[in-house]
Amino acid sequence: MTIFHERLQQSLAQPNLREKLLAKAELDEDGYLLWKGTIGTKGYGKYNSIEVHKLWYVLHHGPVPEGLVLAHACHKKLCLTCARPATQGANIREMAERITHCPYGHPYDKANTFLNSRGGRHCRTCNNAQWKKGKEWQRAR
Ligand SMILES: [Zn+2]
Ligand SMILES: [Zn+2]
Repeated sequence: MTIFHERLQQSLAQPNLREKLLAKAELDEDGYLLWKGTIGTKGYGKYNSIEVHKLWYVLHHGPVPEGLVLAHACHKKLCLTCARPATQGANIREMAERITHCPYGHPYDKANTFLNSRGGRHCRTCNNAQWKKGKEWQRAR
């Protein structure tokens, strides 16, 4: 067994796991249940070192079919409940097509979007805000 599977089994063996997870999640304004606990480096929620949407999926639906990854239908990384198995390629394509807003809700439209050197999309509003923050930080020193 891999460490991941061991941790997963340990977590699944906890009594009232569903309630414990729900206690750390809150509905957002769109009606999605978002994780409010620890967040890992990839931006996904973590519980006992396991990504919470995986834990939630396995808890309710059983193991993720081999060769598939869990994808969020809503594309919110912290959404607890709506991850479904998908192929990696389909997931990436879908992400690119369906993400119409940056993580802070600014639209990826012509005026607000620029591409980086690797072809990734970036939000101009957020980029400007970050730049401003950096300036303020410099000024404060
Ligand atoms: Zn969702
Ligand atoms: Zn933005």
